[in-house]
Amino acid sequence: MRLALSFAVATLLSAAAATVGCRRAPPGGLALVGATLIDGSGGPPLADAAIVVRRGRIESVGTRAGFTLPPDTREVDLAGRWIIPGLIDAHAHVERWALPRYLAWGVTTVRDLHGQVDSILRLRRQVNLGAVRGPRIYSAGAMIDGLPTTYPDAFGASTPRDARKAVDRLVNAGVDLIKVYTRIDDTLLKAVIDEARTFNLRVTGHLGMVNAVTAARDGIGSIEHLSGVPEACVADASSLTAAHYRGFFAGWTAFERSWAGLDSSALERVARALAERGTILIPTLVLHDTFSRLDDPAMLSDTMLAAVPPAAQRRWNVPDMVRRAGWTAEDYPAFRAARPVQDRFLRRFAAAGGRIATGTDAANQLLIPGYSEHEELQLLVGAGFSPRDALLAATRNGAVLLGVDSIGLIAPGKAADLVVLTRDPLADIRNTLAIDRVMSRGILLSADSIRKAW
Ligand SMILES: [Zn+2]
Repeated sequence: MRLALSFAVATLLSAAAATVGCRRAPPGGLALVGATLIDGSGGPPLADAAIVVRRGRIESVGTRAGFTLPPDTREVDLAGRWIIPGLIDAHAHVERWALPRYLAWGVTTVRDLHGQVDSILRLRRQVNLGAVRGPRIYSAGAMIDGLPTTYPDAFGASTPRDARKAVDRLVNAGVDLIKVYTRIDDTLLKAVIDEARTFNLRVTGHLGMVNAVTAARDGIGSIEHLSGVPEACVADASSLTAAHYRGFFAGWTAFERSWAGLDSSALERVARALAERGTILIPTLVLHDTFSRLDDPAMLSDTMLAAVPPAAQRRWNVPDMVRRAGWTAEDYPAFRAARPVQDRFLRRFAAAGGRIATGTDAANQLLIPGYSEHEELQLLVGAGFSPRDALLAATRNGAVLLGVDSIGLIAPGKAADLVVLTRDPLADIRNTLAIDRVMSRGILLSADSIRKAW
């Protein structure tokens, strides 16, 4: 009742203000003062920064020297802290329970790459309108696959006409991008890319039947999991494509086992070809790494898994996944042997000017939404990238991948999505986990209070 009354009074007052032509007071802002700013441009950090945020946007960026607090702005002292742009997980399968996990771990944007199309787009609408708190969601809706589709909720296509129709259905549903899956062949891929271009939508792929260089020449915008790279390196990829056609796990196993035997000059050639085409790679090293260590019992008892609700862990059913995959004790060392080759390939790709974005594949088995983004950052540094370049992969490159310039950078006019850290991430990438507060859409949240609420 009191609420209703005060709402009525506020409405009357604003109506009165409008009637007499007074300007309404500007909405309250926040000034984040004293932290070291790593703005996402790749330039040097800015010490003793003063950042003003209002209406969910960055209003100004400067230093404390000469800074005067604007009217209706509250100062937040962040001396001894570091600020980075909100992180982007560019390969996610979003579930409702995961939303607070993303925010608590500083992930303020996710690129969703397959789900049940109606429910994920409904969730995206609720979150992006602010009815449900969570990271910004960009979604592919459901992926397009060849027939029979690997997953029942994918859109299947066996002719170019079907492939175009599948794109049209997704466009009508309102997706942000198109994802193709392992059973898409070159003819279908060309049709998907051509139809998506009509609607100005980007196409990404978890490739199986088409190798990475062919897909890049066809005009694919990005490639997930480094898929199609071994297939582009070998003279005869028929055994790999046959394995991909049998199913996801058969394809993954053959693909992962092939890396260690790839020729260095072939890897160099493929890295250059992809970089020249501007194809963005989302390597999801954390997925490769996780599958390669499933013979370690510690994987299943990791204390971090407490962040995943028991029902979701039951759905994961890791022993059953291993059974379905048919993995045996000798597969894991072979998967681990792939990792240094993948790292070397990424270094070559980056040296040739290629762009890498961080993605995780959470919330698939053992990949914790939000937390796994930090594991991916650590794996990129382990692969030989600087903390600065790893952070760019998680911020600016994710924005470029999505084709948006409002996120991934802290500058006037950009979205007020950022993370406040208590330790310097450029000194040690593990410090991205030292999260003090997270700002999403201009609202400053305490990481601890988000955790308490899930
Ligand atoms: Zn995925």
